[in-house]
Order: sequence, then C-alpha cells, then structure tokens
Amino acid sequence: MTADFESASLTVRLGAIAANYRTLRQLAGPAAAAAVVKADGYGLGAKMVAPALAGAGCDTFFVAQLGEGVALRPHVPKARIFVLEGAAEEAVPLLIAHELTPVLNSLPDIAAWVAASRAQGKWRRPLDAAIHIDTGLNRLGLRSDELSTLAAEWRERLAGLNLALLMSHLACADDLGADVAMNRRQLERFRAALAMLPPAPASLAATSGVFLGSDYRFDLVRPGIGLWGGGPEQARNPMKNVAVLQARVLQTRRIDKGDSVGYAATFRAKRPTMLATVALGYADGIMRAASNRGAAGFAGARAPFAGRVSMDLLTLDITDMKKQPRMGDAVELLGDTMKLRDVAAAWGTNEYELLTGFSPRIPRRYTDAAA
Ligand SMILES: *Cc1c(COP(=O)(O)O)cnc(C)c1O
Repeated sequence: MTADFESASLTVRLGAIAANYRTLRQLAGPAAAAAVVKADGYGLGAKMVAPALAGAGCDTFFVAQLGEGVALRPHVPKARIFVLEGAAEEAVPLLIAHELTPVLNSLPDIAAWVAASRAQGKWRRPLDAAIHIDTGLNRLGLRSDELSTLAAEWRERLAGLNLALLMSHLACADDLGADVAMNRRQLERFRAALAMLPPAPASLAATSGVFLGSDYRFDLVRPGIGLWGGGPEQARNPMKNVAVLQARVLQTRRIDKGDSVGYAATFRAKRPTMLATVALGYADGIMRAASNRGAAGFAGARAPFAGRVSMDLLTLDITDMKKQPRMGDAVELLGDTMKLRDVAAAWGTNEYELLTGFSPRIPRRYTDAAA
C-alpha cells in the first residue's frame, strides 16, 4: 500500500489539544494543570501529543505504566513524569534511570522507594515521589488502615524522600447519574488525609473534577479526556474537538426491498436502499456493539450503519442523503459532524474506551490546526 492511498486515517489536531490545555489551566487556576497521557495519549499518540502540550506550557505528565514513562521520557525531556502504577521493587532501577516519579500506592511501595532514595547516598538529592491516598474508589492507593499507619509514623517512613505530591482520585465526578454525594465524601476524606501527613502539594481533580468547583482543584489538576475534547456534560463542555476519524467508501450499491445486509442478515431493506461499504471494522476499534446503531457523516449529513460491523468493513444506509458519498469519498466516523460524546453513546461505550480502542492499523495524522 502506498502513502497516497489510505483507506482510513485518524487526524489529531495538535492545535486543539494546546487550546484545550490552556482552557483547562485557566479554569483550574490558580492550581497548575498536568496532562494525563496514559494509554499512548488515549490512543492519539503520546509522543506527538505530549510535546504539543509541553509547547502549551505543560510541565507535568502522568502515565499509567513504567513502560509508558520510559517511552515518553525522550519526548518531554524537561518535564516531570509521574507513573501511576507505583514503585514495585523491580521497577525502581528504571524509574531512577529515566527520572520518572512514581505514585506510591501502598506502604510496601513507599518502603521500596525510600530504600532506593537512601541507597543513593547522602550527596544525592532525595528521590521525589507522589503518594496516592484511596478516598473511596477502592482501586489504587493507600487504604485507610495504611493511611493511619503512615500518619502515625511518617517521620520514619518518609525520611529520605521528597514528597512532591499527595493525590487521590474521584469515583463519581463525570457521571451525572452517579452518586454526587460521593464527591463531597471523597473531598472530606482527602482533606482529612492531608491534615494527617506532612505538607505537600495536593491533587484530586481529573477533567470532570475541574468542573466541580474550586474546592476540588487544590494545587494541581490532572486532566486527560478534556484535552482530547471530551469532558463532563456536553452542554457545558468548552473543549475543542481533537480527533477526526475518516474512512473511504470502497463500493456503493443499490439493493431491493427485502434484501439483507451483512453477517447474520440483521438489516433488511424496507425499501429500495443505497448502501456504501466503508473501510473500517471492529479490528480498527469500531465496536461491534455499534452494529445497526452507529452512523457516519458526509457533507454535514449522517447515514446510519446498516447491519453488523464486520472485521474490516461496515456498511451505511445512504438512501436519505441529499449528497451521497461515492466510491473513494471519505466519510467521517468521528469529528465535527459526528461528535465524540454522541458517537460513544451510539456505540454503547464512553469517550475513553472509544478513543483508546482505535487500533494501530489506523494511521495517525497530525495537524497543528485548532479546528
Ligand atoms: C486517567 C486518570 C486521570 C485522568 O482522567 P480524565 O477523566 O481522563 O481527565 C487522572 N488521574 C488518574 C489517577 C487517572 O487514572
């Protein structure tokens, strides 16, 4: 295949990412804003999006895994990179070698990192670390019994360490149907934890937390999805659209009333129907759950998926389009007509799973454009 024929592409607007970063930082101020670029920058390509963010003034990044931090380091050489998964003993040498700052999630994590810091010898600066306190998500971070132990013994347990951040993560910030009282409970628990530990910069809010009000912002916010155009309630989401997924129409055809489309014949034409077959499928991350539910845009209008999404192909019912796409035309699966939030809902998922699900088979194309 040659570069001038691409059956599909995911265009990433670096200018829009930079604008979204500035918007979030302004909303969060006077708190500082980091950028969460785990899972390869939510599928958009960390080595491209992180330098764009650094160019917009971001000097702090979060990744989930050690390997992600090692891969990111050369692309943002001056930035602080926090690794959320902690500091297992085997991870310590690589964390140090690549100047990655672990987010310590347990007392054993703390002990391993403190031992490494002390082993460096007196003439070296103490190692930096963040500590993650679990305030109710019950996923990662110090449990309440570990917090009590640390609170009683922090002088010994943290000696020889530079505490760069105390953080926690909200369970219900972005879900309107969720338990909103939970946010307050976690905020109170986080404040209580901070009062029990030595003073350090604090961080609680991810993207949605930024919109919960100034109580939640502390010293640093940690947006991820907002940088890529997602966020809380669409109505008050000020983020610019970042990702545009397009694919070619490989064929069009007319079928008769009663004809079926695709595997298992789940779509049956109720009238003479025009179809367009598009070069994307579930191997690309177009969820099979989107069968007969998703849609694609062309010339500002939409055409629904007809039948099942298959591995490499999906089919559109373009009958009602005034301007119908033809063979070779590009239709939009995600972008300015097909909005992230709506597409995620139609595919039976959320913005996060949608973005991180696009497979490496789809080439990423980068533009400095903001819109
Ligand atoms: C993923 C993650 C974030 C970013 O969350 P968004 O909802 O994408 O803004 C922040 N903090 C932690 C601990 C995370 O795991």
